[in-house]
Amino acid sequence: MTRLRLLLIEDSEDDAALLVRELARAGYDVTSERVDTPEGLAAALERQRWDIAIADYTMPRFSGTAALTLLRKHDAEMPFIFVSGTIGEDVAVGAMRTGAHDYIMKGSLKRLVPAVERELREAESRFSRKRAEARLVHLAYHDTLTDLPNRVLLHDRLGYALLAAERASEPLGLLILDLDGFKAINDSLGHQAGDRVLQELAARLRALLRDGDTVARLGGDEFAFVLPRTDGDGAARAAREVLRAVDRSLVLDGRPLELRGSVGIAWCPEHGSDADVLLQKADIAMYVAKSGGLGYACYAPDRDRHAHRRLTLMTELRDGIARGQFSFDYQPIVSLQSGTVWSVEALARWDHPRQGRLPPAEFIGLAEQTGLIEPLTLVLLDKALAEWSGRDGGPSIPVAVNLSPRSLRDPGFPDQVADLLRRRQRLASALVFEITENLILSDTTRSMTCLSRLHEMGVKLAIDDYGIGYSSLSYLRRLPVDRLKIDRSFVSGLAAGDDAIVRSTIDLAHNLGLTVVAEGVESAEARDRLQELGCDAAQGNFIAKPGSATDIRRWVARQDAPDRP
Ligand code: C2E
Ligand code: MG
Ligand code: MG
Repeated sequence: MTRLRLLLIEDSEDDAALLVRELARAGYDVTSERVDTPEGLAAALERQRWDIAIADYTMPRFSGTAALTLLRKHDAEMPFIFVSGTIGEDVAVGAMRTGAHDYIMKGSLKRLVPAVERELREAESRFSRKRAEARLVHLAYHDTLTDLPNRVLLHDRLGYALLAAERASEPLGLLILDLDGFKAINDSLGHQAGDRVLQELAARLRALLRDGDTVARLGGDEFAFVLPRTDGDGAARAAREVLRAVDRSLVLDGRPLELRGSVGIAWCPEHGSDADVLLQKADIAMYVAKSGGLGYACYAPDRDRHAHRRLTLMTELRDGIARGQFSFDYQPIVSLQSGTVWSVEALARWDHPRQGRLPPAEFIGLAEQTGLIEPLTLVLLDKALAEWSGRDGGPSIPVAVNLSPRSLRDPGFPDQVADLLRRRQRLASALVFEITENLILSDTTRSMTCLSRLHEMGVKLAIDDYGIGYSSLSYLRRLPVDRLKIDRSFVSGLAAGDDAIVRSTIDLAHNLGLTVVAEGVESAEARDRLQELGCDAAQGNFIAKPGSATDIRRWVARQDAPDRP
């Protein structure tokens, strides 16, 4: 038997009893209540849930439409049927419009049971559709792995919480937690283990929340906390609690795991009252905490300006590459015997939208740390090949490009270079790679494989900044290099008559069959001395300062052109 909780809005006890009897006969286990005043209806709705309401259309102390209006305020979905002796066609249509599901004449109650059945069925399907919709909405705003709010919902909640905080002149704390070494867990134990760690951690973090707090998963191993009514001190306290929860030992398949995290803190109003700004500052603080191994750190615009600047740049690098903000300046390398231009060295620059033109010291290290140096190198390499191809009326001159250790450790790099050369229709001899000796020492076998492949292809290789590293020339002899660049610290000593190192380097390099370039030539004396010592080529501000492709092409056009080695 189906239970039916029936709410009757009916002034006649007899009519009500008749309806109950009719439904009971059809097999319903009816519990019913009869009301005939607004107060009675409100109280009944308040008291319990009802499956269906059946109302008389005209009652002395209450009208059916008023009853419907009152009921809809309470429950927009509950099945509602009018039963009436007097209802006319147009009144019935009006009643349906105000939200009744059906109407039945008192004279033809045989329609009652099928109408009730149908309305119950439809109410059920409305309910499950609603539930499915709610589930979809939930999925859009929650992380499937941990069921925590996701980045979208966090942003929303943070926005509202900030508005409320401002209105009430209350502080609001924001924490960003990033796990240390989580990738190692994923790599060594597998993604499933990693997932379980995140789920366990999510449960711990959720247990820390007070009323009104939000914890969200921003993605990967990154979480955020929104803490209303929390100032800097409170946020630091919360950060310590979070770190304790992360630190607590965790056993996975009988194996104890060590988890550590870094927390960045920012708060309103000190650090801003905009969700994006606050998130960015908490993120920066988190990087400071992580790189300093501090556990947690508060955003501090003055104290760590340098660190902040670096970290901001780090986050902007990827975007900068995508938007083509990187380019090369070029500096000619000129033969000391004939004065001809051997090649141009490509020196990377970042045209940063707010900070202006940045030198490589500001971003090459960051690009190496983030792994973005490989795409950056390829993008720039392609540009350099295009700019000196000789195809657009300009000169065709070999380009020397500096390489980072990462590129040489990537076994796919030589093929990528071959591909670029093919697409730009350039010979391998149009390219020189400059590498520092320490770069080769850092991972000998893999770097050697790469270097040999490039050398076989016909790309020239130069040892950059020679003399400041630790390698002996006899070690360099084993490398497939063609050229040696003497570091500018030795070249600058020449003017003062200190030429012992430069002289012996040139002699030894020549004995090994290498050509020698002096870098950082800043005066006529240095240039003349290098010439006397038999140095092959020179580069430096005295000869030509680095400049844009256009500037250096003009400079080259003013020199004599022929025979380059
Ligand atoms: P490097 O390869 O030794 O480049 C020569 C540096 O010396 C350049 O600095 C150049 O502007 C500077 N220089 C040239 N002539 C003179 C001179 O007469 N006096 C003095 N004092 N300096 C001179 P820059 O452009 O700041 O580059 C610095 C370093 O950044 C480069 O040293 C190179 O190691 C690295 N680098 C530049 N571009 C790239 C790149 O695309 N990729 C990689 N991985 N590293 C790059
Ligand atoms: Mg160089
Ligand atoms: Mg150098």
